[in-house]
This record gives sequence, C-alpha cells and structure tokens, in this order.
Amino acid sequence: MEEVEKRVTRRGPGAAGRSPGAKRSKRSGRERTETEVKGNETGNVKESRKRKGKKKKNGSEDQEMEIVPLNAWARLLLEQLGDPRCSGGRWAQALQRVSVVRTDTLRLLTTPELDDFLRRVGDATARLINMENYRRRRLFFEGRGIDYSWMSAWARRFADYSDIYKLLGSMNFHEACRLISDQWKGFLGLLKAAKEGKLEPWQKVRPPGYRKDKDGQRIPIVVVRYDNYRIDLERKTLHLGYWNVSIPFRGKPRWLTKPGAKRGRLIIVYDPVKKRWYARVSVEVTLESKLGGGLKAGIDLGRERLIALVTEPLSESGEGVALLYRGGPLKADYFYFERRIAEIDRMLADPKLEEMDRAVLKEMRRRLYEKRKRHREQIFANSAAHLIRVCEELGVAALLLGYPRGIAQDKPGKGNTNMWSYRRLEQRIAVAAENRGIPVFKIPEDNTSKTCARHGCEVERGPRGLVRCPFGHAMHSDINAAMNILKRGGGKVPARVRVLSFIPTASKVVAVNEKKRNHNPAPKAGNLDGARAR
Ligand SMILES: [Zn+2]
Repeated sequence: MEEVEKRVTRRGPGAAGRSPGAKRSKRSGRERTETEVKGNETGNVKESRKRKGKKKKNGSEDQEMEIVPLNAWARLLLEQLGDPRCSGGRWAQALQRVSVVRTDTLRLLTTPELDDFLRRVGDATARLINMENYRRRRLFFEGRGIDYSWMSAWARRFADYSDIYKLLGSMNFHEACRLISDQWKGFLGLLKAAKEGKLEPWQKVRPPGYRKDKDGQRIPIVVVRYDNYRIDLERKTLHLGYWNVSIPFRGKPRWLTKPGAKRGRLIIVYDPVKKRWYARVSVEVTLESKLGGGLKAGIDLGRERLIALVTEPLSESGEGVALLYRGGPLKADYFYFERRIAEIDRMLADPKLEEMDRAVLKEMRRRLYEKRKRHREQIFANSAAHLIRVCEELGVAALLLGYPRGIAQDKPGKGNTNMWSYRRLEQRIAVAAENRGIPVFKIPEDNTSKTCARHGCEVERGPRGLVRCPFGHAMHSDINAAMNILKRGGGKVPARVRVLSFIPTASKVVAVNEKKRNHNPAPKAGNLDGARAR
C-alpha cells in the first residue's frame, strides 16, 4: 500500500496543488506541474493530508484549491488515495462497493376514502411537526440551544401529542419524531459548516420551519417506519400496517427491485398542482464498480453552454472528444414562463380585480412557477443521464467538475447563469455518475476561462464564445475551460478534439451538427453513434 501511495503521488500534481502559492502563481501550467511534483517527492499522502487539515483552519485561500468529492465513488477514492489527481494504478483493479440511498417515487391511485384517510393522518403529522418545530425554534432563538433529539418529541407522546400518537401508532409516531430530529440535525450540520466557512455562497441556513402553505394551511405529510409498510410489486399495492390500508400505485420502482435493496422511511405527500398523492420510498442499495483504469474528463458548467466536457485522448493519436450541451432551450423556456408570469402580475396589479379572479390568477401563477421548475429539472435530468451514458461508452472513468465561483453570488437575474442553478445540475451529474460507478470531483475553476489549456498563457475572448491564444489557435471558450479543469485534475489535455453537440430539452436530448467528417476516427469514438441514436 505504501508503495502504491508513493507512486501515485509522484505521478500527478498531487496534494501540493493545494498550496496557496501554486494557486496564486501566474506561471505556466507546465512549470507549475514540475514544482508540484518536486514538492511531493518527499512527502506521502498521509503527510499531505495532515497539511491540508492544518491549512483549512487558517483561511479560505487554501480551501479554494480543495478538491471536493461529489459522490460516493469519489469519497471512496479520496479515502484510499488522499488525492484523486493521479492516474489509476494497481489499486483500482478490484471490484469496489458503496452503499447509497435512493428514492423510488410511486404515484398513488386513491379513492375519495383513501384521500380522506391520507389527509387526516397527513394533517396530524404536519401538526406534530409544526408544534415541535415551534417549540424547538423558540429554544433556538432564545439562545437555549438546538434540540435535535427525537426523544424530546417522543417523551410528549402521552401528553401534548396523545391524540396524534393514537392516530399514527407508536411505530410511525416514532418515525415522525426521527424525521423532525433529522431536520434539526441537518440544521446543526449547516451551522457548523457555516462556522467553518464551508458553505456554498447560495446555501442559506435557517432552522426547520412549518409545514404551511402561503394561505396558512397545513401541508399534509404521512411518515411510515420501514417496518410498518409492505410493497407488493406484482399487485402494485402499498400496504400500511398500523392502519391496515392498501393503496394501489402506478410507476415502476427502479431501486426497490434491485437485489439486496433495503427499504427505509416511507413518506407520502400531496402534490397540489397535479392533485395527486405520491409515496416516496427511500431505499438503500449497493452499487458496484471497478474504479480507475479509464479516461478522465473535465466538465465546465453553464457559460455559453449548459455543459462542456472534454475527455483525455482516446488513443495514441491524441484526439479526445468534446461534448457540448446547449443552454438555448432552457433559456427560451425560462423567458417564456417569465413572460407569462409577468402578464399575470400585470393583471393582479389591477385594484378593481374581484377576489375570486385574484385567487384564480394566483393559482395560475403558482402553476407556472411549478412548471418552469419541473421543465428545468427535466432538462437537467435528461442532460445528466445522456452525458453519463456517452461517458460510459467513451470509457470515461472519472469526472472533474469545475465549480464556478462568483457566479452564484450574482443576483439572480434575467438570462444570467445563476438561473441555471448549477447546484441542481451538478447533483444530477454526480448521482447519474454514481449509479454508473463513475467518481465525480469538484475542482476550483478560477481563471480557467482566461488561460489557454495548451500553453498556459492568457487568451483573448473573441466573438461567439471563441477564445484566441497568442500562439495562433482558437477554441470554444467552454471547451478551453473544460480542458483547464481536466488539466487541474491531473488529466492529459488532448491535442485535438472531436466536438459533439447536443440540445437538451425537457423531453429528450437531440444531437446536432452531425457532420460526418471523421478524419482520424478514434477507435472508441465509433460507439458514440449508438449513444446518440438513443
Ligand atoms: Zn494556446
């Protein structure tokens, strides 16, 4: 192990990349790599880890160089190696396993009776949550600490909450207490992260609130403990034990059907827009992957394109593949909804408007917001799934994702990149990759758009998203940025790339500009046709 570790650190830029000096230096990439390798030859992974720990405390400077694992495979690699910025070695050949939690969503087919039942139980649970959160928020705001225990709610089961306890049964009442406790633990975790300066700029820390809509109505939620429900996959029914109620459902569970899947908490919620009940089953599953041994790819999110990805060279020829996912449809979608919402707002501004009409308009507006969000989520999901599928076909075994600093702090405004909610897209990519056994790391991307990935010199921004290098070549700025990220992650920048463009929409991902100019076809790239056709 010792030897493997050493070999690994010697190969890539390694942990020395975290030194603040390296970050600030304007030296070319080549020089930097050399000094980093030199600095590393004496140290090993464990040492560099210690250094990292020390430095974390004294400032943000160093944090900026930090590599953040975005999924379970990335965390596993970090544990084993200390730093992913190295090529795969012998360590990677064994089959690895991680356990992850996924959610299956089932649409419940309710009758009026079932609807009544869910509403009754759901409202009682929401009431419990609201009362507990009221009590805990008061404690918190009065400076009497954070109550994140499930037992403090449980202890009131025969007193304040006796009617709720009776209605939910001890198992599900217990689970509801656990849910409340989980929320407060999450809050505590965020507070801690904020104190250590580890929060993302857009993350807000608020104590858990109330399950109430804008009109003050409680939002129902049914919480069922893992051992108090049964899912019959053949008959497609959900059976709730304590209440002895069976509810038919629609939808094909993706995770529950996996061998060895373990059921966790079941949550039933109502979607007021779709006017339907949904059951969300959390499932623990084991994923397997042979880590390493493949290509790395760098990803830049959302400038001119939603996603730009560049792989290492696929073969000796030095040619890599670049994937571009255009942001056009997302932007158009955004503006379309923006326009319609503005129309409604104009109508609402009329003081002579009847109360009834006002309510209708407000409902319409809410639906538009919902729909816009749903569209965006769908575009992200489609893009991420497509991206990872193509990555798999290309033999990509690790993804390095640049994280845009500065953009998140910008005011969310018309057409700026903030609306693309990087974080959601990032999560989609991380999870899609996790499902396919591909680790994803986040890498700081400052200056990646200003520097030539091949020469390390400054580039000039040209028209139509092109950058010009003083050495006489031009590139898509996003491809250049993705290449820089790839390089920062210890990847090899390809001499040439074959560019594949896609347009992701809410319903599918469409391939564009398929010019058949396969001069110098890389062997693996041939598989791509299959991926695109799907
Ligand atoms: Zn250049």
